[in-house]
Amino acid sequence: MKRDIHLVVLLLSIIFFSLASLTLWKVITSREHALEEINTHGLNLTQALSTYSEGVMRHSSLLLLGLVERLETEGSGPRQIERLGQLVSRQQPLMPQLSGITVYNKDGLWLMSSNRPIPTGANSSDRAYFIHHRDNPSREPFIDLPIRSRANQEWVITISRRFDDAAGQFAGVVAVTLGVENFLLLFGQIDVGNDGAIGLSYTDGSILVRYPFREQDMARNFSNSPIYAKYLVDRSVGTASFTSSLDGVERLYAFRKSDKLPLVTTVALGKREALAAWQLEAKLSVLLVCGLLLLTGGIGWLLIRAMCRRSLVEDELRVAQQQLLASNEQLERLAMHDALTGLANRRNFDDTLTQETCRARHSGNALSLLMIDIDHFKRYNDSYGHLAGDACLQQVASRLSACMRRPPDLLARYGGEEFAAILPDTDCAGAASVARTILEYLDHDPIDHRDSPFTQVSVSIGIASASGSDLESAQALVERADRALYIAKNAGRNRLHII
Ligand code: GH3
Ligand code: MG
Ligand code: MG
Repeated sequence: MKRDIHLVVLLLSIIFFSLASLTLWKVITSREHALEEINTHGLNLTQALSTYSEGVMRHSSLLLLGLVERLETEGSGPRQIERLGQLVSRQQPLMPQLSGITVYNKDGLWLMSSNRPIPTGANSSDRAYFIHHRDNPSREPFIDLPIRSRANQEWVITISRRFDDAAGQFAGVVAVTLGVENFLLLFGQIDVGNDGAIGLSYTDGSILVRYPFREQDMARNFSNSPIYAKYLVDRSVGTASFTSSLDGVERLYAFRKSDKLPLVTTVALGKREALAAWQLEAKLSVLLVCGLLLLTGGIGWLLIRAMCRRSLVEDELRVAQQQLLASNEQLERLAMHDALTGLANRRNFDDTLTQETCRARHSGNALSLLMIDIDHFKRYNDSYGHLAGDACLQQVASRLSACMRRPPDLLARYGGEEFAAILPDTDCAGAASVARTILEYLDHDPIDHRDSPFTQVSVSIGIASASGSDLESAQALVERADRALYIAKNAGRNRLHII
């Protein structure tokens, strides 16, 4: 039973550890998968957004290139500017991202604005892009940091090119303004959660657009953010995970540097938010497994308790059985033995004699019976008292027992102060020899008896022997032995007689 309980405990432990480790493994791998998926999704988004931003910038550059070409070939006089204005008003609707196109002369004065009438004295010579083109002969387009439009106070990104006069001298700047709002509208359609963000920036970390929009982030430089300081140093595409120094939120970033323009697109998701679905699933799995483990543990506990109880009941039964066996043995002993002397009792004697008589008759072997009676025992009782008489009976029984030679010999208390010995496979001579031994033993190891003519306890023994067909019934054998005893008594006691 103990082994069974151990097996159940082992089985339960195996189930427990298997389920627990499987769940842990599943939770860990599903987290890795979730992170992988988030990163792939982020990279795909950066790809799409980068392509969009690049496209808008490139279209703007191309548009500017056409305008510069025209200004340089046709000049920037009022008539040319008017015609240019008409051209622009036809082209602008084709690019809804454009907020406006403005032409400045070499002093920064506005020559043309596609959106509205030119404010009197409007001058943009202080703008960074104007200074850049004026002081830099490069004819490449310049993407400026976001500024607030003087026309409508909206945040705009300016892409500009310079145009020269016929002598190759700086003649002015053509600028296209892209409304940050347009980018925000697109970025806003992408779900990045509450902690997420989408950003378009220069490779040096200066922010062009950031969703969600925060005024304080515009044109701000994030060059010390790990994206620019660490990851973009040797890679142009990748993913990263770190805690923002601005708001302390841990985010998963996907970043992509444009091949052709100095632009970086970043998609960031709050790590906790992004892993919320995984977390919920993991919690449910853990809860479910805990429930299962509790259930299994409970059933196991009930099983073990039942087994323990059964084991206890079996132990009690075993003890009860042993007690019963012991009681039976005791009863049997009491039923077959004499309480005072411990010798076989009369019933035992009768049964054994019947059996031995049958056996001897079948086998043809001899069977002898001794009837032993203590001499003058009444006097002993009278002289020493009844209790002493009992003790004397025990002493005589012990001496008689010592004279029995073979295991099958049975010495019994026949009744009162009378004993009987059944000696199987013993003929008359053998029986006489046993009887003599008894007489000698009592003589040599005497028990005092002051009222006996022999001054010690003595016995008279009647012997009856027979074998094979001569063997009469058990009762007849007893009668014979009794007669022999009677003769021994009459002959003076302390002797044997054989019939
Ligand atoms: P005999 O030599 O002729 O055998 O004389 P006896 O006195 O031994 O014979 P009797 O038959 O006259 O007396 C037997 C006595 O044994 C009577 C009885 O008090 C006593 N006796 C029988 N059983 C017990 C017993 O269990 N304990 C004691 N103390 N005495 C017993
Ligand atoms: Mg007697
Ligand atoms: Mg007697």
